[in-house]
Amino acid sequence: MNDPIQQDLLQFPELLEKVKEQGLAYLSQIADRPTHSSLPLSLTDHLPEEGVGALAALAQFNLRFEPTIVATTGPRYWGFVTGGSTPAAVVGDWLTSIYDQNSFATQGQGDLSARLELETIQLLLDLFGLPKDFLGGFVTGATMSNFTCLAVGRQWLGKQLGKDFAKEGVTGQLPVLTATPHSSAIKSLSLLGMGSSRYTRVNVMPGNREAIDITDLEQKLAALNGQPCLVLSSGGTVNTVDFDDFRAIAQLKQRYDFWWHIDAAFGGFAACSPAHKHLLAGWEEADSITVDCHKWLNVPYESAVFFVKEKHRLLQVETFQNSNAPYLGDPLDNFSYMNFLPENSRRLKALPAWFTLVAYGKAGYRKMVEDCIQHARQLGAFVAESPYFELLAPVRLNTVCFTLAGEANQEKLTAFVSRLNDTGKVFMTPTVYNGKKGIRAALVNWRTRTTDITLATELMTATAEQL
Ligand SMILES: *Cc1c(COP(=O)(O)O)cnc(C)c1O
Repeated sequence: MNDPIQQDLLQFPELLEKVKEQGLAYLSQIADRPTHSSLPLSLTDHLPEEGVGALAALAQFNLRFEPTIVATTGPRYWGFVTGGSTPAAVVGDWLTSIYDQNSFATQGQGDLSARLELETIQLLLDLFGLPKDFLGGFVTGATMSNFTCLAVGRQWLGKQLGKDFAKEGVTGQLPVLTATPHSSAIKSLSLLGMGSSRYTRVNVMPGNREAIDITDLEQKLAALNGQPCLVLSSGGTVNTVDFDDFRAIAQLKQRYDFWWHIDAAFGGFAACSPAHKHLLAGWEEADSITVDCHKWLNVPYESAVFFVKEKHRLLQVETFQNSNAPYLGDPLDNFSYMNFLPENSRRLKALPAWFTLVAYGKAGYRKMVEDCIQHARQLGAFVAESPYFELLAPVRLNTVCFTLAGEANQEKLTAFVSRLNDTGKVFMTPTVYNGKKGIRAALVNWRTRTTDITLATELMTATAEQL
């Protein structure tokens, strides 16, 4: 009898060898792989009765799907905020699948792999120069990190009002103040029953800024008359990478009662650069912080961390505990991620991050971050000098936000972006900033070099000339 799974067991060495070779072939060509695909793909809804085994499945994947895969981890994919994967991170990711731990317990449950996660959180706090009075954990992305942090903030708000929202459900209007929130933070408000339309927009500072106007924030805090609220601030906005004034917010926190969350999904990595860490000065006073790992840390999807002040641990457990499952133990008894974040069962998410941190250290990340900033400056300088383009904002860190020069060219912008992306050699994403159509190029990939920027600028000029 030809039992595919037994057959695969016998062929495991050959299978893994083949995948290794294919992976290496892909990665060694990544700079030439298109960043965009328009190949057609038809999907099936029929699962055959008999399986074909992993080798034949691989052949089918290679025939149908592999050609449509684009070089998102290559050096010239600058859309959204897209990181790559360092060699060490790939090693950690492979081993995560091999060991396949269910990573939540740190004691008493057999599988104690989550202790590696505790260590990785400490390493990250050290990388960012954050104090050790934060507890943290891994979730799938900054969206879930924002959700986790804001969920604890919601529980805190309830406590201030004498309520336990986790148990009783949310009641009343909960004030949220923010200036330029990421869409995922607003989505989190929706998930948390706080209402995605019920936040109050604080003014931004004058002069082409996206950062909170501190005077306006203080006025809005004062107007709450002592009612506790949530302040949602930005450590790197998506369009122009603007940072709120964290020192000023920390001072306000001494006089007003609010939960302070910082979304520093990628901007948190400014802490790795001595020349830029001042942008984050004061962030250590926040109640909670979001940082993505699948962006600038350059580990594979899905990886992000939250940091929440240790003093809020009880609120966090109240929010995420498995309170009606006695077999999982007392949530306050010993530390388990199961009672600390949204997921229960989950893979050993920390391992790729642990590998890359240990492999490259603080110096490796300082260089990676500073190289990206340097490349953004190079691209920004080109845009500023080119007759075809203009900057929509100064290059503050790793992102260039620009548009076609001249009001009349606004209508050509969509065509420009799609023609540029159709070259398959560089990828950027459209945006709207201050009512203008623009383009963003976000540089967070460790593979990008000066020559990649030069290649992209030549393509940009050529594409603009043909409009
Ligand atoms: C990318 C990003 C998010 C959402 O992150 P995901 O990893 O896509 O969930 C949230 N906030 C900011 C500032 C981001 O850049």
